[in-house]
Amino acid sequence: IVVVRDLTKVFGRRGRKAQGLVAVSSVSFSVQAGGALGIVGESGSGKTTLSRMLVGLERPTSGSITICDQDRSKPARSLAAQRERARQIQIVFQDPYTSLDRRQTGADCLAEVLRLHSDLTATQRDHRIHELGDQVGLSKATLASRPAALSGGQRQRLAIARALAASPQVLVLDEAVSALDVSVQAQVLNRLADIREELGITYLFVSHDLAVIQQITDDVIVMRHGGIVERGSTKDVLTEPQHEYTKLLRDSVP
Ligand code: ATP
Repeated sequence: IVVVRDLTKVFGRRGRKAQGLVAVSSVSFSVQAGGALGIVGESGSGKTTLSRMLVGLERPTSGSITICDQDRSKPARSLAAQRERARQIQIVFQDPYTSLDRRQTGADCLAEVLRLHSDLTATQRDHRIHELGDQVGLSKATLASRPAALSGGQRQRLAIARALAASPQVLVLDEAVSALDVSVQAQVLNRLADIREELGITYLFVSHDLAVIQQITDDVIVMRHGGIVERGSTKDVLTEPQHEYTKLLRDSVP
């Protein structure tokens, strides 16, 4: 469902000869529908740049991205094409507070996405909002609150519900549970595992945290300096890492 070939992003290169900062370097991987791929690496290894390219927030310098059999390397021109892309892939970032509208209640926020991405009537939208609330574990009362009144875990659940409201086939979770306390993290991870099973969504799970990666992914790629240094099933890579860098990452887990 996701095929990435030789994806490269160079920042700050002006003109053919100038050198820039290579954030992502010739990265290739693919994920099957319903799969969960972990993308690990320490800070600065290019994980966020890669996820931003996947959802179209950053334009690749070279290489190709195919999602649901469609070429994503070029920006979508029409509104219809943008909508279609939104139904293919959505992203959840580490800190949803910056992207949630402070004046909107959770329910308003979800209603806005549903108006944009579905043809549901007002009554059907209300029904869907509570269904999304159930999926991520947010009550009706919580959905009636504004982001300032929510805990970190509740905000992150709302951000996940907002992404799910577009009914995406692929969900990119970029350090989506990293800012949460361990117990809240476990609750959100459990929800995500249930959602994956229920809806058959494909996950791309970006994290520096190997414990989290171990819980939620089937396969993993390990990134360093923008490139992939190791890949395989999560179990194999974490129990018997082949690359020195992966060993270091694993051994740094308390
Ligand atoms: P972190 O977990 O800290 O976010 P990361 O693995 O996600 O790290 P990226 O954020 O993708 O790494 O950054 C990779 C490299 O690209 C870094 O050296 C970063 O400074 C650089 N970089 C990222 N975004 C930009 C930008 N918009 N302009 C210039 N350089 C950038």
